Amino acid sequence: MPQSIEQATFHNSFVDELPGEASMDNRPRQVPGAAYSRVLPTPVRQPRLLAWSEELAAELGLSRPPEQGPAVDVLAGNLVTETMKPFAARYGGHQFGSWAGQLGDGRAMSLGELSAVDGSPREIQLKGAGPTPYSRRADGRAVLRSSVREFLCSEAMHWLGVPTTRALSLVTTGDLVVRDMFYSGNPQPEPGAIVARVAPTFVRFGNFQMMTAAGELDNLRTLADYVIRRYYPELGEPSAAVYVRWFEEICRRTAVMIAHWMTVGFVHGVMNTDNMSILGLTIDYGPYGWLEPYEPGWTPNTTDFSHHRYAFGQQPRVALWNLVQLGRALSPLVDNVEELNAGLDRYNTTLNETRRELYGRKLGLTSFTSAEDLALLEVLPEALADGVVDMTLFFRRLSHLAPTLITQPEQEEALLAELVRETSYVELGPIGQQHLLPWLRRYTARLRQETTDPDAIQTGMLAANPKYVLRNYLAQQAIEAAETGDLTLLNRLMQVLKAPFDEQPEHNELAAKRPEWAREKPGSATLSCSS
Ligand code: AMP
Ligand code: MG
Repeated sequence: MPQSIEQATFHNSFVDELPGEASMDNRPRQVPGAAYSRVLPTPVRQPRLLAWSEELAAELGLSRPPEQGPAVDVLAGNLVTETMKPFAARYGGHQFGSWAGQLGDGRAMSLGELSAVDGSPREIQLKGAGPTPYSRRADGRAVLRSSVREFLCSEAMHWLGVPTTRALSLVTTGDLVVRDMFYSGNPQPEPGAIVARVAPTFVRFGNFQMMTAAGELDNLRTLADYVIRRYYPELGEPSAAVYVRWFEEICRRTAVMIAHWMTVGFVHGVMNTDNMSILGLTIDYGPYGWLEPYEPGWTPNTTDFSHHRYAFGQQPRVALWNLVQLGRALSPLVDNVEELNAGLDRYNTTLNETRRELYGRKLGLTSFTSAEDLALLEVLPEALADGVVDMTLFFRRLSHLAPTLITQPEQEEALLAELVRETSYVELGPIGQQHLLPWLRRYTARLRQETTDPDAIQTGMLAANPKYVLRNYLAQQAIEAAETGDLTLLNRLMQVLKAPFDEQPEHNELAAKRPEWAREKPGSATLSCSS
């Protein structure tokens, strides 16, 4: 029987098994020697439930609560039940390439863990529940705008099959939070909100980096052993050899995650090492964005406009750089640092293999391994960029066209030209002539060599190329409506994004190219870390 969250029994392995500080003192400070600080959420004025993930709740055995009441009090941090031992984790990180020292959960706090109905552990974390020792000079709160973005996108990523943390609920707090959205000296009050997010654990690369940087090697080992025993039990009892295999597995999972990002067109925006999950999950949805025109150099994050360090096309390299930093942090645990290189090699091979596998499915090619096939994949980014095509729309339309391209070669030229025209953001001129159309001709010739039935190819492609993604401007429209109390678009997006590969013709307009007005719109195309 599903139960309401205030009745659920929480477990507290992180607090019970790791060293931490128990003072409950929220004042910002360094916390040497601790993996976490015990904290209490700071109550909010009038919590109200705005959104709820039915599917995740079912996994957790939780029932949907009414708009207000004890369950929503839990989800807003106003009620801490007897079995919870809330904590904020201590971690550090490299931000934009530089070591930033202690960061930690400055506005996220975990209530503890629930057992999912399948028996596996899930940490429940409130984001925006008030200050912790790690809040530095900030307020520990989150605004509705960024909370809607995290709620919608993490669930949408899950339905796309991308490894990610999840979101259970979104509540408004009834309090105002002041933010200078574009760091332009123009702070404004905005509605506050709290997302309850869910993952087996929220431990990041930065938790390990912090301990090594502080010379706390006993704590480093204790945390590594905790994570391995609990989340990587298949590796066996921790030992020097197991740490090496563990690092390799983290590298593998990270590569799978990045390959997914690169094939759906997701730009994380802030790939600092404190935003890298030790489980290879997409974590910390901030100024992320979805590619509209295929542009490897694009980032939505205004803080990164000068360097484009975290632009779409940089993500594979940055993840590797981040793994090197994690490897450094774990090096005191292994006999020979060189052994960790196997993990970095594994990252590269897995990234290539997974990307090939995912693109093979997107393109409807069953065996996608010959030298010519790999050459086709190699030049694809250049081709897509040349056509300035909408990434999502392009592959979806291509899926629909595939059977005709196979069976009616005489129509090929006209169909390909139309495909480029319809999905490109450039209206006039020789779009796609240099790379994209030649690429499409090569691809079509290759597609005709497939022996699978054309309709089956199409079915496979439609199951690999989503029709619906959380387009930047749609998220922004849902936010603007939610800020006035209108949840129609938020609810509609939640519904539609649960089945991103289904036609859902009644929602066609949510699959359209970005309208021209949204091109430079703040909040759509440009986002800051202010959240
Ligand atoms: P982010 O860039 O969101 O990953 O955050 C980097 C660090 O800043 C983390 O330690 C966060 O907990 C902290 N942080 C971000 N926003 C706030 C806030 N409003 N209050 C307290 N800490 C924050
Ligand atoms: Mg973060």
